[in-house]
Amino acid sequence: MSRTRSWWGWGTVEDALDELERADLLARVAAMMPGAVLAAHEPPDVATLDLPPARLVPPAPLAALCSTEPVDRAAHSRGKAFRDVVRNLSGDLPDVPDLVVRPVEERDVVDVLDWCSREAVAVVAYGGGSSVVGGVEPRLDGDYAGSVSLDLGRLDRVLEVDRTSRAARIQAGVLGPRLEDQLRPHGLTLRFFPQSFEFSSLGGWLATHAGGHFATLQTHIDDLVESLRVVTPVGTSQSRRLPASGAGPSPDQLFLGSEGILGVITEAWMRLQERPRWRRGASVHFADYAAAVDATRAVAQSGLHPANCRLLDPVEAFLATGVATGGGVLLLGFESADHPVDTAMDRAVTLCREHGGTVPEPPRADGDADRPGRDSATAAWRSSFLRMPYQRDVLAQHGMIVETFETACTWDRFPALHAAVTDAATTALREICGGGVLTCRFTHVYPDGPAPYFGVYAGGRWGSQVQQWDELKAVLSDTLLANGGTITHHHAVGRDHRPWYDRQRPDLVAAALGAAKQRLDPAGVLNPGVLLPTQPRRP
Ligand SMILES: Cc1cc2nc3c(=O)[nH]c(=O)nc-3n(C[C@H](O)[C@H](O)[C@H](O)COP(=O)(O)OP(=O)(O)OC[C@H]3O[C@@H](n4cnc5c(N)ncnc54)[C@H](O)[C@@H]3O)c2cc1C
Repeated sequence: MSRTRSWWGWGTVEDALDELERADLLARVAAMMPGAVLAAHEPPDVATLDLPPARLVPPAPLAALCSTEPVDRAAHSRGKAFRDVVRNLSGDLPDVPDLVVRPVEERDVVDVLDWCSREAVAVVAYGGGSSVVGGVEPRLDGDYAGSVSLDLGRLDRVLEVDRTSRAARIQAGVLGPRLEDQLRPHGLTLRFFPQSFEFSSLGGWLATHAGGHFATLQTHIDDLVESLRVVTPVGTSQSRRLPASGAGPSPDQLFLGSEGILGVITEAWMRLQERPRWRRGASVHFADYAAAVDATRAVAQSGLHPANCRLLDPVEAFLATGVATGGGVLLLGFESADHPVDTAMDRAVTLCREHGGTVPEPPRADGDADRPGRDSATAAWRSSFLRMPYQRDVLAQHGMIVETFETACTWDRFPALHAAVTDAATTALREICGGGVLTCRFTHVYPDGPAPYFGVYAGGRWGSQVQQWDELKAVLSDTLLANGGTITHHHAVGRDHRPWYDRQRPDLVAAALGAAKQRLDPAGVLNPGVLLPTQPRRP
């Protein structure tokens, strides 16, 4: 069945919450926040939006690839963060691309960059458009003739599979499901499943250091890259396929996380895996959160490398799985295509028990490749995880503030960072929203530290939600930096994290990045304002 992408919110129109799900969600919110005003606000009809007129006429050879349809321009004007959804709901779209261009081959990308460099037109590479940091929004503060959203969605094929080395050459515009569909007949998988998997692209993942579902080892897409092909305004860079290399700074590292400011990634050779055959899952309950953190650290430092190692704090565990604990729930999972994983799971459970954890259901084994071993808490968490973006949109429609922020820090700093974020959030939520709820889970864990991911739920004021969230976000971001965290572990920098990224990044590195940008993008047209201040240079 064909599905219609929502122009204003997450996913497809057909998969949005139905009336029963909506009613159930709102009843739960009303019980948790009795004072919240929950009037509904429907999205405006796209035909009624007062979009600024399109300012660009493409050169004739590119015209067939271009669209000025209002629904295209509106849908490409921003990503899918809470603040994007709320602004869309209010019909407030001052910054929209003049054209949406959909290349069908790499040559088209070269031609678009040539034209835009000549005419001082800003180019925003667009994969799935799931950015949560203002990465695809043409909010330009320079002197540009207009802006183009370069939608890579038609570059969506797996071009070659090397079974021997277990790698594939893949076009960057492919979205998660279509990528896996093309690898399945080969018995292989990329096994990279961010929460946004369905509506985000390989190129977007590479350009943002995206984080997938593996909690340890191959946490970021970077770990799965063999080589990259990148079109820049001054030429194309193709790195060599290698399993590893000691030859100077890595060419791929220049472009990984470059968020469309240095070039457009058109293809990548990616490392693949066999589909897992052995899986085990368990959830460990804790009475004390500090003990739960210590147990998670013990597992992260054990060398066991679980695929899943998500510590949900007590509030998150209750909201997502319905399990009430004093210290939270650790979701553990092991998987392998090659060997049973019972021994690793048993050892991880032993480590957790040594820190006071209890395992109410025995670890579940399951040999079926498409149905991983999941106990009931893990299954409940997973289904809530996938519905969460749709629920967020409904809550935004009802005037609430629902957003996440994430970081990483070393284990020695985590207790202080967690306490500081909890204090700052409690105070800011009381002052800005009259109260609210903060949750925390670890999305990834490393031997030297966790990646905590926080959720914020509060009653907002319709019409002021964006301002309220921006105030909260500024306080929370300041707190992360002051307590040894990074402004982002995997959500990227975009335009929205720039002020904190500027403080976090060494000045010399900023200068070197600026020099690389000048060399690769002399007209300064590639995604201006992302990662670096805008430096437009009209020809
Ligand atoms: C509900 C939800 C869940 C999410 N879950 C996760 C998660 O689990 N893990 C995670 O890491 N992130 C997550 N994100 C954030 C987002 O999905 C990631 O940043 C993702 O990598 C973006 O991919 P995309 O294809 O949608 O990129 P886009 O949003 O289209 O673009 C993101 C940035 O990359 C640039 N870009 C895109 N394609 C290219 C290209 N081919 N070449 C050069 N630059 C390019 C864009 O210009 C922009 O700066 C989530 C977002 C939402 C809304």
